[in-house]
Parts: sequence; C-alpha cells; structure tokens
Amino acid sequence: MDKTRAAREIEKLSREIEEHNYRYYVLDEPAVSDKEYDELLRKLIKLEDQFPGLKSPDSPSQRVGAKVLSGAATVTHRVKMYSLDNTYSMDELKEWHGRVVKGLPGQKVEYVAELKIDGVSASLTYLDGRFTLGATRGDGVTGEDVTHSLKTVRSIPLVLQKKKGKTLPPALPEVLEVRGEVYMDLKDFAALNNERKKNGEPVFANPRNATSGSVKLLDSRITAQRNLNCFIHSFGVLEGTAPFKTQWEFLAAIPDWGLRVNGERRLCKTVDEVIACCQEYQRRRDTIPYEIDGVVIKVNSLKQQEQLGFTLKSPRWAVAYKFPARQVTTTVKEISVQVGRTGILTPVAELEPVECGGVTIARSTLHNFDEVKRLGVKRGDRVLVERAGDVIPKVVKVVGHSGKSGQGAFHVPTECPACGGPVMKETEQEVAYRCVNPLCPDQIERGLLHFASRGAMDIEGLGESVVHQLCEKGLVKDFADIYFLQPKDLLGLELFADKKTENLLKAVENSKARPFSRFLFGLGIFNVGEKVALTLARRFGSLEKLISAGQEDLESVHTIGRVIAVSVVKFFKEPATRRLMGKFRKAGVCPVEAAAPKSGRLQDKKFVFTGELDSMTRAQAGSRVRELGGEVVSGVSPATDFVVAGHNPGSKHQKALSIGVKILTEHQFQEMIHEEKNSPTE
Ligand code: NAD
Repeated sequence: MDKTRAAREIEKLSREIEEHNYRYYVLDEPAVSDKEYDELLRKLIKLEDQFPGLKSPDSPSQRVGAKVLSGAATVTHRVKMYSLDNTYSMDELKEWHGRVVKGLPGQKVEYVAELKIDGVSASLTYLDGRFTLGATRGDGVTGEDVTHSLKTVRSIPLVLQKKKGKTLPPALPEVLEVRGEVYMDLKDFAALNNERKKNGEPVFANPRNATSGSVKLLDSRITAQRNLNCFIHSFGVLEGTAPFKTQWEFLAAIPDWGLRVNGERRLCKTVDEVIACCQEYQRRRDTIPYEIDGVVIKVNSLKQQEQLGFTLKSPRWAVAYKFPARQVTTTVKEISVQVGRTGILTPVAELEPVECGGVTIARSTLHNFDEVKRLGVKRGDRVLVERAGDVIPKVVKVVGHSGKSGQGAFHVPTECPACGGPVMKETEQEVAYRCVNPLCPDQIERGLLHFASRGAMDIEGLGESVVHQLCEKGLVKDFADIYFLQPKDLLGLELFADKKTENLLKAVENSKARPFSRFLFGLGIFNVGEKVALTLARRFGSLEKLISAGQEDLESVHTIGRVIAVSVVKFFKEPATRRLMGKFRKAGVCPVEAAAPKSGRLQDKKFVFTGELDSMTRAQAGSRVRELGGEVVSGVSPATDFVVAGHNPGSKHQKALSIGVKILTEHQFQEMIHEEKNSPTE
C-alpha cells in the first residue's frame, strides 16, 4: 500500500472507530461487538506502525475512551486514567513479558494477576477519609462527575474506616484517589433485562452497558435499585500516609480502610505462572457471578512500574489478556420456522456464519414469535449474537436495520411450513403456536429421533440421516412402523449394506425390552418429560393400565397435576394414538415397568453429570440413577448431592468445587451403582 492510500485508510478507520467510541462510551449503545471493534483498532495500529509518519497524537490508537458528553458535569483527574493494552494469546503475553524484562535490565520481576472485570472504570476520591468525588474515566484526562450515583453503591464506603493493629498505618491518607471497576452481577443484570422486556423497554446488550447506563443516570434513586457493586484495583493519589511498595501489598491492605477488593488474584513469580493463571481463570469464567473479559497482569513492584512508565494510552507495566469474545455481530439472512417434535413452531434466525467463543454460529433460535416482535428483527438486519459457556447462541438485540423499510418483515405463519396444516395456540395465554396435524412429516421425523434417542428407546444407528431417509421414502409414517422394517427397506438407504442392516434391525428388536417409562417418555406426550414418565410408569406399570386410567386416577398420583393429567388423557383418547398403540402391540412392543425400589442408598439423591464417561453414556448413567430412586438435575446447587465428573468436565465441575458439592469420579460412581445393584433393598 502506498502512503496516500494508507493515509486515506487511516483517516477512514479513525473516523469509524471514533463513531464506535462515541456510541459505546457516551451513548452505551454499541453498534458492533467488542471483537469487531478490536479488529478495527488493530488494523489501524498496524497501518500506523507501517507508516509512523501518519500517526497523529489525536488518533484513537493514542487516546483513552471518549470525551464526556457536553452538558454533563465534568471532573479533571488529578492523575491521568489510562486504558490497558490487550493481548489475545499466550505468545503475545510472552512478548509483553519480554518487553518488561528488557525495560528492567538485570532485575527480577514478579506479577500480580487480577480478574479483568467487565464493568465501568471509576475514580473515587477520599479527602480525610470522606468520599467526596466519584468520576468516570472519560477520555482519561476529564471524566464525568457521577458522585451522586456512586454514593448509592453499597460496596463504596462513604467514610473510610481506621482499623488499628492491622496492615495499614493508623493515619488515614489526607488525599486518597482509588480506581476501581463498577459492575453488575449477572443475576441482577438478567433480572433488570427481564423487567425491561416486560415493560417494553429496550434491553441492555451486556452487564457493562447496563452498568454504564446506570452510573450515568441523573436520578440516583433509580441507580440505587440497580444493585451495582465495586472492586477497587488501583490508586492514583495517596498523600499523607506511608507509601505502598507493591501492588500485592496495596490490595491486601486497603480492605482495612473498608475498600472492597477482589479476592480472586494471584502473585506470580514467572511468566509461566501468569500463563497458567490466565488459563485457569478462562476455564472458570462461567463459574464467576459477574462478567469478566480477561485477566489483568501488573508488574508487582511500584518502583519497577515507575521505571517502565506509560505510553500515551496505557501503562507499560500492565497488560490485559483478553478471553475469546462471546458476543459478535452478524447479518440475519432469513428467519425460518422449525417444527418441533411436539408441533411447536420455533422461529430461527439463519445467520451469516460467524465465529463466536471458538465455534462458528450459523443459526440461532429466536424462541417464539413474541420474541421476534420484541426484538423487531427482520431479514437483512445486523444483530448482536451471544454465546456464553455451553449455552446455545442467542440473538441479544438488533444493532442495525437493513434500511429497506418494510422489506424482510417477519409474519407469523398461518399454516405449518412443513405440512401446510393448520396452526394454532393451545390457549390464548400461551405464546407458542403449534401445528396440530399428528401426521406432520417434520413432527414425525423429529419425534422419531426422540423416540430412538438414548434416554428413550435407545436404538443405536437410528440417527438423523437414517430417520430422514426413512421418512422421505415413506417407509416410516409413524413410530411403530420401524418395528415392521424389512432388510430390503434398509438396503435401499445410503451406505447400508448387510452388516449395517442387520445391526439396525437387531437394535430395533432389542428396544422392545426397554422399560415402560422410557417408551412413555419416547412418545413425546406434551408435558411428559423423563421424570413424569417414570412416575407414571411406576404407578401404572403398563401401557394398558395407563390407557384405561382416567383423569382423576392420574391426578391422584403424587407430583402429577391437572395440566399433565389432561395432556395424557387427551393424548390416549386421540384415534390416531389408539391406532398407533394397536400397531405397537401387533409388533410385540408391550413394555412394562418394574416397581420402584422401596428405598436405596440413591433414594432422593440429586446427581449432576458433567464431562464424558468411559463405561456408559450420560443418558444410560442417568437412567441407572433414576432406576435406583435418585434424580438427575441439570444445574449444580447446594441441594445437589453428587456431581459425577467424566473427561473434560465443564463449568458444573467448577461450580461444584466452589460451593463444596461432593464430586465423584466415574470409578466411584460405578462402585456406588454396583453396590446398589447388590444391595438387599433392591
Ligand atoms: P478495557 O476495558 O479493555 O481495559 C481497561 C480497563 O479495564 C480499565 O480502564 C479498567 O477500568 C478495567 N479493569 C477491569 N479490571 C481491572 C483490574 N483488575 N485492574 C485494572 N483495570 C481493570 O479498555 P477500554 O479502553 O475501557 O476499552 C477498550 C475496550 O472496550 C475495547 O477493547 C473494546 O473491546 C471495547 N470497546 C468496544 C466498542 C464497541 O463499539 N463495541 C467501542 C469502544 C470500546
């Protein structure tokens, strides 16, 4: 690229970044994700490095944040507030360490690793121990006066304490200006957005935006309701008391003044320890109750910090290691409608494929038609998509409309997109629309996959592609048809030869021996999940007995309410269901259930599974737990009795560690169920 083109490109990028800064820092309404913003900034920095003569001191690469909105009360910081340089990989972190070592020849360096809280930077000034001024970072030189808001944050003391005999000198500093991060816990953020959804107000894209919006509110009574929190991580001014020698010492000491400091931090003697710490925090990200977007690494010695100094924008003695982004923006190519196994129609955003949190996202459920309306999403719109932890991707909000008014608008279908059948709501209160045609091919296809799944009839080999072909060729029109399949039917399918055909037919045959509870669950009756199926199967024992039960009989079963009872009775009354049950009987599928174990050591014990198991699938392990009277739950809480951790356990394992729930290895779990098998109570 020649210099003229580079100058043009630099100007264009700078303008674009300035606009994003304004939207992000001033309006709290970003139009792109942080990831895309960071990419633009990196592009600019790269060009400026190639053409150093084109780098102006005004460039966004050289400046902190954005100017405060004119009209707001401003504060000039006593000491400039800086931003942080970012690193995105362990190699970049090592390069930064290399620069630090070079800047401190012959010296030993220690680091402090702290969580990078994704909130809003704030400066708090205490004069003779009294909180007198609270400000945002603004452009680093001038911030917004938000004293009134910050006074409502309970973790910010209005008066510093003076504790004797602890780590700090007895005198309080005459002037103390500390810096911290104001943030919102994830549960408070979710509650705030739910409330806003209910009131028809726009939701905040993330906890950072919500915090920033709350801090800048003029009415501090509303700020007070937002449950903001604050961690102090640095200081700007310290006058009238003995100085600190290290960052570690500072963080350990100031809680004695009543200032809140994050307990999650590490003192690292080597860069390898820093790297291990970043990896550990990245793994534990989902177990932390507030949003973190990385780890901040600081040179521990304040003397060494002084030696290293600052660039225009950031300290040379600190750096942020950023975790992979969880929010990205992309374009909605289409809004399609999917028919689920119970007939529920779900709108789905078909997206321009985009990478988020390490995976490519090409679709995202929009949950229901009310949500489409609330988001105001149309074909062609730019949307902010989020994928946190194991959670399936979701569209957070629209950040840019396609511009063509009226075009791409989405309408609730009046007929099923799969079978053309009628579409209706079960009751007016319900948000979901359903296709009510029991012969709808999409419903049957998805339903059959569920029927054959591990938690139900567990028919190995009856996966997505096979089920699709069987339905498409008309070989299977209902669930019972699979029991009438002949070798010649299967041999006509893709990749099916003798062995595969034989295996599948054997798997179908073996499934006839599954307990009644799994069969019942597999039928996919509205409101009958795995747990309800087991309760009903244990109570009634066989299909015949359940079919002849009335609503009252069902309601008399403990934990079975009216809604479930109505659903079950209605299902078995349908002529189509009766025909289907007849076919099952003819095929020799007459499942029965053994009585529940009276008591066992797993009785009422709650299990959570995480990671892969070697000896069995998670579904099989879950069935075994239930057979023995225990329960499988999805989330870890203090009420959980055991977490069984297989290979590569996820965030549930971390949560169990953090709240002290007993963790079992697969081997220990095996021993437990084995003992149960032989226990005299069974
Ligand atoms: P930053 O938020 O990435 O990092 C600096 C800040 O980290 C500090 O000011 C401090 O407040 C905070 N921090 C949190 N924990 C800390 C700790 N333990 N110790 C020290 N500091 C800690 O930098 P920034 O300059 O505020 O913002 C830049 C980032 O903001 C970009 O990387 C981008 O991701 C995002 N941004 C996005 C847009 C957008 O349009 N999406 C626009 C502008 C900026």
